[in-house]
Amino acid sequence: MSASEHQSTRRHSVGVKIGAVVVGGEAPVVVQSMTNTDTADPVGTARQIQQLAAAGSELVRITVNTDEAADAVPRIRDLLESVGCRVPIIGDFHYNGHLLLTRYPACAEALAKYRINPGNVGFGKKKDRQFATMIEQAIKYDKPVRIGVNWGSLDQELVVRMMDDNAKLSEPKDAADVTREALVVSALTSAAKAEEIGLSRDKIILSCKVSGVQELIAVYRELAGRCDHALHLGLTEAGMGSKGIVASTAALAVLLQQGIGDTIRISLTPEPNGDRAREVIVAQEILQTMGLRSFVPLVTACPGCGRTTSTVFQELANNIQAYVRGQMPIWRERYIGVEDMTLAVMGCVVNGPGESKHASIGISLPGTGEAPAAPVFIDGQKAMTLRGEHIAEEFQRIVDDYVARRFTRRMQAADAEPQRAAGAG
Ligand code: SF4
Repeated sequence: MSASEHQSTRRHSVGVKIGAVVVGGEAPVVVQSMTNTDTADPVGTARQIQQLAAAGSELVRITVNTDEAADAVPRIRDLLESVGCRVPIIGDFHYNGHLLLTRYPACAEALAKYRINPGNVGFGKKKDRQFATMIEQAIKYDKPVRIGVNWGSLDQELVVRMMDDNAKLSEPKDAADVTREALVVSALTSAAKAEEIGLSRDKIILSCKVSGVQELIAVYRELAGRCDHALHLGLTEAGMGSKGIVASTAALAVLLQQGIGDTIRISLTPEPNGDRAREVIVAQEILQTMGLRSFVPLVTACPGCGRTTSTVFQELANNIQAYVRGQMPIWRERYIGVEDMTLAVMGCVVNGPGESKHASIGISLPGTGEAPAAPVFIDGQKAMTLRGEHIAEEFQRIVDDYVARRFTRRMQAADAEPQRAAGAG
């Protein structure tokens, strides 16, 4: 499915503007992420937000959990502005959001969106009042909200009431079905309350996160069928490493293919001292490999087999992917459409030339026993053959040359615009 075909089958949702980013409506699916720094440390948090934004995160969420954290938010915004980073920051509130948003007006103003968890806004009679306070602050500062329900913090009063009602039925439903329904009801009733208070529909995004793949698919199908709010997708507590990536991809790919989901976040647990931006890369790769968006040129590489007894080709595939990803912040600013470039690094002559011809630039390395020559294909044509010790460096130079020749510079496009306008007049 192409991006345009997917767009035509997307579920209709009301678009929500978050700073300069639109979620839902006609907008492409947006990638977002969340920091794991102490928000009370403005320098460390701003640094990580900048790293996430540089990796391609279009929205970044931060925890706002204490007075110190709320106090630090305007400073974080200023630090980001000072380095030209304008990524919208979302505040994640639990338990005391009504207090923090009221006591720290500069925080309420600096944030681009508030995340409210209806299961964590308070208990009993206080719950409605505290929820209303947060919505009133959103209205006052003209900010959108995400009503983010989570399986691990589902409104227990609602669950108990729905379980009791279910028990009275002649044919009670399974407890898991009731819990799923409670997630959806919590999101929809909270959204309806927010609208009653005066928040407009184009300021409301919903999410209902669970940690099981099949449950997530079932909950979002239900939610998507019962409202036209923009939806934030994510498998909560996805886990570490390949498990987290596979589970998130399995769940989100099914929903995205069905046109459900306007923004995604991958909740990976980082390895100790691991790169937080990994969750951004995984989110981008889900969307890009599904053909829904392009972010970074991706490298097609064969898995290798008994014909590749050295690690040369794995190293080249790995290095060139890291190189293009590292170059993207510069290339994205400089060249139009560079993210659509495709690269292939293949291990031998069996599928190497064929796969290489399908890429913008492909290289077929010599397999075991083959002549020590690596033919390079550019736009489907054999362009040269690399030999010797420095194939990796030469291939990188070929990629650089191709980018500079093939993609229009943004400045040139801007320069050409007035000329075209003058010619048309
Ligand atoms: S292209 Fe060659 S090295 Fe790669 S998997 Fe196929 S046969 Fe093996």
